[in-house]
Order: sequence, then C-alpha cells, then structure tokens
Amino acid sequence: MNPFALDGKRALIAGASRGIGLAIARAVAEAGADTILAARSLPQLKSAAANLVARGLKASPLALDVTRADSIAAAAEAAGDVDILINVAGMNQRKRLENYTPEDYDLILRTNLHGIFALCQDVGARMIARRRGGKIVHIGSLTSGLGLPYVAPYTISKSALGGLTRAMAAEWAAHNIQVNCIAPGFILTDLNRPMWEAPAMKQWLSAVQPNPRLGRPEDIAPLAVFLSSSGSDYITGQTIYVDGGFSTASVWPFQPAE
Ligand code: NDP
Repeated sequence: MNPFALDGKRALIAGASRGIGLAIARAVAEAGADTILAARSLPQLKSAAANLVARGLKASPLALDVTRADSIAAAAEAAGDVDILINVAGMNQRKRLENYTPEDYDLILRTNLHGIFALCQDVGARMIARRRGGKIVHIGSLTSGLGLPYVAPYTISKSALGGLTRAMAAEWAAHNIQVNCIAPGFILTDLNRPMWEAPAMKQWLSAVQPNPRLGRPEDIAPLAVFLSSSGSDYITGQTIYVDGGFSTASVWPFQPAE
C-alpha cells in the first residue's frame, strides 16, 4: 500500500490553467487521480488535460469562474463525486493601501476568498452526502501569517483562508474530511513575473532567505499530493509553509571569529 497514491480518487483543481495550479494538477494526475482541471481559460485547460491523457493519465477540463455563483454551481454539478478539492484560483494587485478602489478590493476578495468559500460549500456538501470522506487543500500565501507591503486586500484574503482552513477542519472532521492550507513563498509565475525582473529583488531574496533561489510551481505540487493522500489522514487544520525557509529563518553576512 502506497500511502501517497491517489488511484481511484477524483480530484477537482480550481485554478489549474497555469502556474502553481497546473503543476499541482499534473502531479495529482501523476499520482493516479482522475483529475479535473478547472479555471476560466478553457483552451489552456483542454490542452493541458489532453497532454495528461496522452501520457495515459486521467484528466479533463472544466470551465469555472470563482467570481460567479452560477459558474461555481455548474462546475460543482459537472465535477460530480469529488474526493479531493484543491483551491488554487487567486489573483493579486499590488498598490499602496490608500489607492485601492472599492472595485479592486471587491474583485480580489471575491476571487481569493468568497468564491473559494462558495465552491467549498457546493463540493463539500456533496462530499458529506457521499459519506466517503475527502480532502480539501487551500492555497494561502506568506501573507496568511506575515505582513508584506502593497498587497493589503490580498493579505486579508489569504489570512482568512488560514482561518477558513481551521474552521472547516473542525466542522467537517465528523465527516472524515481533512482540510489544510499550503502557504507558498516566492514562486515565479505570471502572478509576479514583472516584480521579480528587478535585479534588486532577486539580490534581496538571495541575501535573506535560507534557500536563496526563487521557488517554482513544482516545489509546491508534492505537498498538495501528500495532503490529498491517505498518508496525511492525521493532519488537518494546518497551514504549511513551502517557502525556502523565508517565514521561519533568515541569514546574514556576519561570520563569527571562530
Ligand atoms: P497564476 O496567475 O499563474 O495562476 C492563477 C490561477 O488562478 C490560474 O489558473 C487562473 O486561471 C486561476 N484563476 C484566477 N482567477 C480565477 C477565477 N475568477 N476563476 C477561476 N480561476 C481563476 O498565479 P500562481 O500560480 O502564482 O497562483 C496560484 C495561487 O497561488 C494563487 O491563489 C496565488 O495567490 C497563490 N500564491 C502564489 C504565490 C506566488 O509567489 N506565485 C505565492 C503564494 C501564493 P484563469 O485565469 O484561466 O481563470
């Protein structure tokens, strides 16, 4: 028995068209799950799913916009019996706090938090009705537990996902549903590529972070597989940082004399 295998499981990955979600979808399919890749960019999802199927894995695309209640309900219905729900969908806007418009604020919160909550309600209700347990994984951020400049609404949304993780873990334990949150550190994707183009940013990171490189989507995927597998049955309500050590340790140039 391989405790990390996902054979016979059906997984819904919300936000799987690129970046971290696509890497997670690939890894979950590789681990044996029948994997539904969901997001708004249907052509990208179709092509990613077709590539997985061509390799003998089980995968299919699904249209989902987490800012729209009708899309969430339709996707939950189309996904059917889901054993694993991984909520990756998210967006960000970097601005000074005083410059966010109500529309900016609303879009960030609706995408990163309210839509995820509604999706959990629909998919979770089906998991509960099936009485076969389940796994739910949220994608938080360093900002789930740490303040960083110029991302205030994003920070609100990702901090709330940590709270949602704990609340769901407590409430759905009786249904054998484990709920955890992965908090990625600095992972190079379309979400932040322009920010990391400034040489000063990479120099800063390599000077302070224990593992000095930027992260890759593939650094996050293995933990998502683990938290979807029976090997993690005794882990619930946790926010786990995958961040090269950024949130817990720092390095500096000082060297002791001996
Ligand atoms: P990307 O921009 O590369 O990917 C974002 C994903 O979310 C896409 O698949 C996108 O699909 C999907 N998405 C966005 N809005 C919606 C929506 N309204 N409905 C459905 N899906 C949506 O970013 P990352 O891969 O970097 O980010 C993935 C997650 O990881 C996000 O939640 C992000 O906050 C989080 N994260 C990222 C970090 C990083 O450093 N990159 C660090 C910490 C957390 P589509 O546009 O096709 O709908």
